Amino acid sequence: MEVSLGPLPTELHDRIRQWVASDRWAGPETAWPDAVAISGGPAWCTLLDPDGGVYCWCPWDDTVTPIEDGPRKVLEVVIGAKYRPELAVWLPAQPAGALLCVGCRGVGWRDPSGPSDVCHACAALGWLPPER
Ligand SMILES: [Zn+2]
Repeated sequence: MEVSLGPLPTELHDRIRQWVASDRWAGPETAWPDAVAISGGPAWCTLLDPDGGVYCWCPWDDTVTPIEDGPRKVLEVVIGAKYRPELAVWLPAQPAGALLCVGCRGVGWRDPSGPSDVCHACAALGWLPPER
């Protein structure tokens, strides 16, 4: 599936800086990116920096890996927007002719009661781009 986020909307740069100032994911003494956690689980944490960089932190080897723009980054920001709704302006707009995702029946989550079972077929958007 071909979806991506593109550049971070201008209005979000300052908002994310505010989040980092009050809620930096790691202590200020660390050399990790200036970022906030936007999603995660028992074995990873997804981070967002004020320039729109999204990273995956792995606690097993304590590494931070950038996530390239594309379906995985979209999915992580969809999850992040559930808790930080301002991020929704960054998500791709549903194009005309988009198809309802049958994997999640258009809700983006296989179980709408929680974020643990996000729909990977549509990057949690609930729709798929029109077929070419
Ligand atoms: Zn889906």
